[in-house]
Amino acid sequence: MTDSPDLPAGNWPELKPGWVWLCGAGPGDPGLLTLHALNALRQADVIVFDALVEPEILDWAPQAEHIYAGKRGGKPSAKQRDISLRLIDLARSGKRVLRLKGGDPFVFGRGGEEAQTLIQHGVPVRIIPGISAGIGGLAYAGIPVTHRDVNQSVTFVTGHDQSGETPSSLDWKAISDGSQVIVIYMGIKHIARIAAALRDAGRQMSEPCAVVVSATTGDQQVLETTLGSLESDLSASGLEPPAIICVGRSVLMRQVLDWQSLALGEAPRNLDPLGRGKPAETA
Ligand code: SAH
Repeated sequence: MTDSPDLPAGNWPELKPGWVWLCGAGPGDPGLLTLHALNALRQADVIVFDALVEPEILDWAPQAEHIYAGKRGGKPSAKQRDISLRLIDLARSGKRVLRLKGGDPFVFGRGGEEAQTLIQHGVPVRIIPGISAGIGGLAYAGIPVTHRDVNQSVTFVTGHDQSGETPSSLDWKAISDGSQVIVIYMGIKHIARIAAALRDAGRQMSEPCAVVVSATTGDQQVLETTLGSLESDLSASGLEPPAIICVGRSVLMRQVLDWQSLALGEAPRNLDPLGRGKPAETA
């Protein structure tokens, strides 16, 4: 157990009894918490947390009761209602409630639904954003989610809908045509279908892809592959969720920006993976 870090002096908001703070915990590495999250951890009477919140983060709130409310990807939304009702009960009993979710609470985390239910029941809330895995997790793998030579837009998609199926509402052709870089959350289960949909939509078999597993944690693993080999390489790797899948040429930047390997003394594999031919800063 590590001691909770100190907050810098300042006029930090008070988590009042009867309130729920809906807070993102970032993708894993406790250093990626916000100061508002730390402030919340220090004041909470009870923390209702998800599967993807690192245990060390909870260690920073030893005074609080810790309630696990994890769900397996794509499984029933009935349980979501139970979680919301639990939060309402806790708030009404006068607790200072911290609802802690992985990444950002409003990115594929049902945070919007939870906050709406709380407000509908008259429970006051504060929203504390967090670093989403699709941005921070890729950065830890050395993949910039945008890069001037690659993309002017990025699309974040979920590989699951409420029923646990590939989201039928997704227009893969439009996504493929409209976005050079596609970042897929919860994509492992349906990777074969997603990859096929992207190929059918015209994306090249040779297009670079990366699968970043347990990003920013001590268990981070990265698989680099192509759209043509994504399913086979993924199943051969034995890698398991949670994973962010990135499709697009920005994955190539990892050849120069894999800063975790550089920190271990490895040389960059390629200083100019996008073939700019001149140092980026002079352009
Ligand atoms: N609100 C979260 C996403 C929740 S959905 C966020 O903003 O990041 C859960 C999915 O997020 C997982 O299935 C996985 O696709 C992704 N995810 C969350 N944490 C991750 C991590 N540390 N490494 C890789 N993927 C992660």
